Amino acid sequence: MAALTPMMRQYMEIKEDYKDAFLFFRLGDFYEMFFDDALKASQLLEITLTSREGGQTGRIPMCGVPFHSAASYIETLVRKGYKVAICEQTEDPAQAKGIVKREVIQLITPGTLTEGRTVGEKSNVFIGSAGRTEEGEYALVRIDLSTGEGVATLAGSDEKSLISEAESLKIREIVVPDELYLALHDLARARSILLSVEPDESLPDGGADVAGHCPPGVQPAAARLLRYLERTQKRSLGHIRPIDYRERRAVLSIDPNSRRNLELVQSIRGGGEKGSLYWLLDETVTAMGGRKLRQWIHEPLAGREAILERTDTVGELIEEFFSRGEIRELLKGVYDMERLAGKVAFGNATGRDLAQLRRSLGQAEPIRRTLLESGTPRLTAMGGRIDPCTEPLRMLEEAITDEPPISNKEGGVIREGFNERLDELRDASRNGKDWIAALEAEERRKTGIKSLKIGYNRVFGYYLEVTKSNVHLVDTERFERKQTLANAERYITPELKEKEALILNAEDEALILETELFNEVRERVKEHIPAIQKLADRLSSLDVLSGFAEVSERYRYVRPEFHGGRGISIRNGRHPVVEKMLDDGTYVPNDCVLDEEANMLLITGPNMSGKSTYMRQVALTVIMAQIGCFVPADSAALPVTDQIFTRIGAADDLAGGQSTFMVEMMESRHALAHATADSLLLFDEIGRGTSTYDGMALAQAMMEFIHEQIGANTLFSTHYHELTGLSEKLGRLRNVHVSAAEQGGHVIFLHKVKEGPADKSYGIHVAELAGLPESVIRRAAELLEELESASVPKPEEGPLSDQLSLFGEGAAGGETAGGESGLAEEIGRLDLLRMTPMDAFQWLHGMQEKI
Ligand code: ADP
Repeated sequence: MAALTPMMRQYMEIKEDYKDAFLFFRLGDFYEMFFDDALKASQLLEITLTSREGGQTGRIPMCGVPFHSAASYIETLVRKGYKVAICEQTEDPAQAKGIVKREVIQLITPGTLTEGRTVGEKSNVFIGSAGRTEEGEYALVRIDLSTGEGVATLAGSDEKSLISEAESLKIREIVVPDELYLALHDLARARSILLSVEPDESLPDGGADVAGHCPPGVQPAAARLLRYLERTQKRSLGHIRPIDYRERRAVLSIDPNSRRNLELVQSIRGGGEKGSLYWLLDETVTAMGGRKLRQWIHEPLAGREAILERTDTVGELIEEFFSRGEIRELLKGVYDMERLAGKVAFGNATGRDLAQLRRSLGQAEPIRRTLLESGTPRLTAMGGRIDPCTEPLRMLEEAITDEPPISNKEGGVIREGFNERLDELRDASRNGKDWIAALEAEERRKTGIKSLKIGYNRVFGYYLEVTKSNVHLVDTERFERKQTLANAERYITPELKEKEALILNAEDEALILETELFNEVRERVKEHIPAIQKLADRLSSLDVLSGFAEVSERYRYVRPEFHGGRGISIRNGRHPVVEKMLDDGTYVPNDCVLDEEANMLLITGPNMSGKSTYMRQVALTVIMAQIGCFVPADSAALPVTDQIFTRIGAADDLAGGQSTFMVEMMESRHALAHATADSLLLFDEIGRGTSTYDGMALAQAMMEFIHEQIGANTLFSTHYHELTGLSEKLGRLRNVHVSAAEQGGHVIFLHKVKEGPADKSYGIHVAELAGLPESVIRRAAELLEELESASVPKPEEGPLSDQLSLFGEGAAGGETAGGESGLAEEIGRLDLLRMTPMDAFQWLHGMQEKI
């Protein structure tokens, strides 16, 4: 250390406190990095690695980025999951004795990066914080630093649920206490989530307003997060709103797997927004509305009153289409008030930001009036709840110019008439300039030099310029020569200098005063942040709801009815996204009726007939209804569902390094452990990932369990035809099938759900259509008969008796555990629709050889 230069010693001292971050060390117009930081950053950012004399230790690796373009480099590093500590000079180098004082003024981390090209307008940037409650559950608190909103929920009792939940909220950084770091480390890493340790869990000053009301189990996590933000941000966090603690029973809980399976915010294939429920429903016109819609989809409601409030409003907005149009037009003029308020709180709002805020606030009153004038109950009530924030609006109107420049540096932000002194100074500088123009004319007249002109430069200030050919006409008594150019001389006069001092002083003073006034205005706006945030919240809800009205009208959705019971009755329901994608009216609507007598459906039918689409459409209908939207059906009578669980498709959990079948079983376990009689369960092709017997046995056992122990509304699809016999044993299980038909030698999928099980010899039927030889078809039919009579498991037999074999070999490889059943299994595994006639023939031939 002693061997280092004083500045490098200063660097090392600061770096000591920010070991886990890149330290951006301000040196003049650059941020420099040294040692390992430099080696690593030069690679990550693809910038040149140089070195610097460091004292007796010799040269030190160094790289740097220009101050004015640092933002994008910082963003790149933070996006890659690193932290960046910004270290600035905190005293004027001209006044410093020795080394200039430097301090870290902000630590930018993945969860606190609130600006830049990668921050989506319509998505939140959450930083999370986790803690364990006394009951052993994980509390997850999240705050969006850019908007100030915070939410706390319980996120299950195992680490995996917590991390999945964080992932599905796109949380990129979680603040944890020491003791959770190891427990979460590997899982978080696999999802590229950064864990930051914050040991302190006492509430910071002012933190009681934000987190004081959270239940005891959640408080430490909330406090820890606030502490961390305070420590890293080092700036005002006055805009952070009271954390919204969502009780579990207030929301329809959908586990992260199911959110993915149901393609709520992104499609499974491709992973983009297109094809998701969000994509379908996003008719919002503001960024805030887009974010709110995402949150609503993430956590639909489970309280009847709260749902009705939204649904009623959508209904009124559909009917009052004139008001709706007007409101949506007005909303288009609303900027991102939440983030603008955040900037005001941080103290980095510019004149332009305040002008945008003014424009946005200005829309509130006409929106309020439109709502009140609609005369319908919900809209009128909504109008009544809008506080048009007249005070900050008036202030901004008075203080800020119509079109302030992007930067505050050149002035032009404070409006004429706002401050007397500023007007005087501006007058002085303006008058001074007029005076100088007049002087130019006067001197021309006096000297008779037509080409005499007055100019200005930074070094000499104002000067009189005369070309060489006219120099003899100059009155040397008054004119003092200042500068000689190739073909001109520049002079000053005492009166010119006097005026110049006045003008420049006035300009300087005006700029200083303007900055002061601007800061004052910003501080005064700050006092109104809670009201502005409330308004933003109301307007963004209105935006989402009017978007629902648009979509509902366009696609002829209906208002769902909620009853007190548990049954589901959907008439002519559709899958809204598939319907929109088809876009030609060919979507085949289907009913879904679940009631006290039968609340479990076993759905059979060939591949591609529409089983999975049917199941999803029921779930989406329930979700749409509980976020307050209308639903794609002719009518829908629904209960208030508490949770949705799905086991659909092959969403492979590669990141977790588990086999598809293991994931399938874990998702099933999760559902069976948490579902209640008020839940909705979707099980698509359970047991497909293992051998036929294993799979069938598991499927049956699960159905029995749901039937006997849970009683939830359940849709179960299977290609195990044998399971259709279960309806005789399970009283509330009903068989339905999705029909297909033959037409002119082709199979056509009718996508129509009908009573009863599917035709069992369907596969052979397809083979026949494909033109396999008669004899082969006949033989296959015989074999099927034989197999069926030999191997149908009788429900009474209790197929789970062989459980060990499943979790022995079956779980790991998904391969068969029973050796004798080879033929049946192989037939079972055939994917007839994907086989060419020749494939089928060859397969049969191979079999015949074996026999
Ligand atoms: P399965 O689960 O039976 O294999 P899917 O539900 O995946 O079948 O449906 C296969 C395809 O059939 C879907 O991609 C969709 O395009 C189409 N489809 C399904 N249901 C319908 C329907 N009711 N109306 C029109 N097309 C449908």
